[in-house]
Amino acid sequence: MYAGVMGDLVDSFGRVHRDLRISVTDRCNLRCTYCMPAEGMDWLPRSQVLTFEEIHRVVRVLVERFGIRSVRLTGGEPTVRANLDELVTALAGIRAAGAPLDLAMTTNGTTLASCAARLASAGLGRINISLDSLRRERFAELTRRDDLADVLDGIAAALDAGFDPVKLNVVVMRGVNSDELVDFARFGRERGVSVRFIEFMPLDADEQWSPSAVVGQDEIVATISKEFPLEAVVRGSEPAQRFRYSDGAGEVGVIPSVTRPFCGSCDRVRLTSEGALRNCLFASEEVDLRAIMRGGGSDDDIERAVLAEVRRKGPGHAIGSTTFVRPRRSMSQIGG
Ligand code: SAM
Ligand code: SF4
Repeated sequence: MYAGVMGDLVDSFGRVHRDLRISVTDRCNLRCTYCMPAEGMDWLPRSQVLTFEEIHRVVRVLVERFGIRSVRLTGGEPTVRANLDELVTALAGIRAAGAPLDLAMTTNGTTLASCAARLASAGLGRINISLDSLRRERFAELTRRDDLADVLDGIAAALDAGFDPVKLNVVVMRGVNSDELVDFARFGRERGVSVRFIEFMPLDADEQWSPSAVVGQDEIVATISKEFPLEAVVRGSEPAQRFRYSDGAGEVGVIPSVTRPFCGSCDRVRLTSEGALRNCLFASEEVDLRAIMRGGGSDDDIERAVLAEVRRKGPGHAIGSTTFVRPRRSMSQIGG
């Protein structure tokens, strides 16, 4: 049902878009097996990556023309982009309907010990830290880097810097880390961070994904509930289905992209590091905003291109069905 007003970024199914995810770099200092190949990707030449000024311009136009309210910085690994705090400062100056933008970041946490405080002062409000194993050897196998201690320090630094909330993103893969669900729940309860378990999606560069590797929401919740009973929280428009601990010790979330897709209430658009706007993680097409900007295009040209791209957004992905088409880009190239 159409729920927007004139000027909203509405697709042909009536979904109003309020959330922009920006990949600030395609580079990364880890090589998670479910995301990148061991040798990394062919990194983009720096001249092809959007400048901070170009990113700021796209955000300003989307906020002013379409009422985008929240922006999440991601990658690749966003914190490997030099002077990221300068971008945060610039974005924090943009007003959405008179209020500051809701600014968040998804990071692997390895560098947070040295940059969390600076990013918080620059205006970053919320943070998600990705961590898929609490066991040092397994972490090293999964990320192909022996950096678990740095991530744990990064989580502590994020809490000290006052990000609210600090969430942990855990991609659950059967036979890989599915025996750590309760360990992660305990970790979250003890540290005061909310853990979000993510169903494994077919966006790995190595194309090793298979349906049997997915651990679905029901199994995740049943496994944790045996140790720490959980109750469902009524689902809002956010992708995560939330569950609170019956004893009041916080909550966990599950992002059930595969077993319970939330495409019907999707409010996201994505900007890749080289300036392509995508209407979906799984989109097969995108529009090149960098070409418009570097070709001397106006804000009106950007507005028209964005609207056309969103209007051709499909109803949803079809993971698991015969009609599903894997996107050409992997997660790190799109910006998760
Ligand atoms: N490097 C940062 C990080 O790892 O948090 C940000 C970029 S990463 C691509 C964003 C999120 O995508 C991470 O939480 C990561 O775990 C998730 N992700 C990557 N590949 C995935 C896959 N195949 N299925 C589900 N989630 C995936
Ligand atoms: Fe890097 Fe994040 Fe992909 Fe891991 S999930 S390889 S940390 S971009």
